[in-house]
Amino acid sequence: MGSSQFDTIIVGSGISGMAAGIILAGYGEKVLVVEQHTIAGGLTQTYTRKGSVFPTGVHRLGSLNPGQSLWYYFKYLDLMDRLELVPLSSEGFEHFFFPSGKYKIPVGHDAYRKQLTTYFPDEANAINRYCKEFRKAISGIGMYDPCVTPEKNRMLEYSGSVDEYLNTLGISGHLKSLITGNNPLYGMPSFECPLIMHFTISDSYLNSGFRINEVKTPFSKALSDSFQARGGRIKLNAMVKQVCVKDKTAVGVILENGEQFGAEKVVFSGHPVYLPDICPPELFRPVYLKRLNRPNTPGICGVAMKWKNEVCPVKDHDVYIYDTWDVDYHYRRSSVLGNDPLGMVYVSALPNPQSSAIQDGNVSATALTAINDIEYKKLAENYSNSNYSEYQRMKEKVTHKILDHLTIVFPDVINQVEIADCYTPATFQRYTLTPNGTGYGIKKSARNFMAAMFSPATKIRNLFLTGQSIGFNGIHGSIVSSVRLCSLLLGDDQLFKKIAGTQN
Ligand SMILES: Cc1cc2nc3c(=O)[nH]c(=O)nc-3n(C[C@H](O)[C@H](O)[C@H](O)COP(=O)(O)OP(=O)(O)OC[C@H]3O[C@@H](n4cnc5c(N)ncnc54)[C@H](O)[C@@H]3O)c2cc1C
Repeated sequence: MGSSQFDTIIVGSGISGMAAGIILAGYGEKVLVVEQHTIAGGLTQTYTRKGSVFPTGVHRLGSLNPGQSLWYYFKYLDLMDRLELVPLSSEGFEHFFFPSGKYKIPVGHDAYRKQLTTYFPDEANAINRYCKEFRKAISGIGMYDPCVTPEKNRMLEYSGSVDEYLNTLGISGHLKSLITGNNPLYGMPSFECPLIMHFTISDSYLNSGFRINEVKTPFSKALSDSFQARGGRIKLNAMVKQVCVKDKTAVGVILENGEQFGAEKVVFSGHPVYLPDICPPELFRPVYLKRLNRPNTPGICGVAMKWKNEVCPVKDHDVYIYDTWDVDYHYRRSSVLGNDPLGMVYVSALPNPQSSAIQDGNVSATALTAINDIEYKKLAENYSNSNYSEYQRMKEKVTHKILDHLTIVFPDVINQVEIADCYTPATFQRYTLTPNGTGYGIKKSARNFMAAMFSPATKIRNLFLTGQSIGFNGIHGSIVSSVRLCSLLLGDDQLFKKIAGTQN
């Protein structure tokens, strides 16, 4: 490989790759993003079916009002003016349906505390303690909110499981189910989820919730435009087969088609389990390779629906439909393809193309549920053209199961929607190269918190990592991973403070 053509090559054009690219290009670096897919964006991509646009991995975003945590990051990445955001209802941005009825979650920590107390008046003391500790935790950790620079980062103090923590407060039963019922947002049951992850994700949406008008202002385009405006270059259809390593130092990449690009630094934002496939594996310690193989969050199946001319019941909020109070059941159930009840389906929507508000008629909605690895394998085996009809049959089964579950809350859903598509983790695996189509990458661990968190640096000099498997998941978590990485690459320990200084 000749002299370096780029300062940095970033593998992957999802939010983490693009956020790193925008920052580095903004510092004057010559940056190339290489993406294996034909479209840029990773999980920020949308797709069109039957004339409607549907999201893949971004249904809603939190904390985007001026002065809120994600707003600072979006502002710094020059995204705010490129996106039309549609607010979710402040009286109930989330509706939980449990066997005894509906529970609405309002925007705002105080409103949340009051609402929980209205639903569970006998547990007012425990609710007050929970809400107080929640706010204290958020103000005691850095990076999640760039404006917070605690003297001592208290992240590890909140690394135990959310389930254990709620038990210590005496919170159990139905109240516990309501508090932890948003677990589909982090892809794991409450006894495995570190408390800090539950707190940051819940806080993000309690501050404010938005959807993106993806038709007018696609998120993936906003990211590409911001990157390219800083001189960054994106190469699509560019599968990295090998990271070139000389003297234990990354010096570039080789693509599947044989093309080579040299760089001073290489950043990999795909799933890190593939590192030993694209780098000399002997350069990693066995214990590190073992950590890369930690369990992943499950894959996700979804049904994309057009809500015809009826009033779309999720036009300004998301819903979680539980057919049980056991909010962890949907992670344990053995079968989506078989006859087990689903346990939980999550439904979200996109704004109407014609309007900046979500109006009735032809709203795109998506209903999602998790699927385990055994069933993923069955789907994936048939996801080849050789047995595509069997794959279609399985997709139909999933679609019927999910629609059937929706009738618990929307009894006439079958007549109100037109089915546009059904997707499975096999689809995600193909478009974003995630093992078993995992939704949120490597599962975080309440038992062994640090084992499931990764440093952006690797044993190979000038090879770095970012992405949802490295730190926390979601758009917010993935951006934080990339800012942390850039702070290291640029040798700028003031980067978070600079982001916090972003003006209105
Ligand atoms: C169904 C679903 C719904 C979600 N909903 C939300 C939501 O509403 N809000 C929210 O905040 N988060 C949501 N998330 C999570 C969020 O989408 C992810 O955490 C985040 O987008 C991950 O970004 P990433 O850059 O780490 O990974 P990705 O978006 O997967 O990007 C990685 C990119 O790297 C590319 N790549 C990998 N290997 C190679 C290679 N060898 N060569 C070239 N390219 C390569 C892939 O093709 C991919 O484009 C959702 C996730 C899922 C699955």
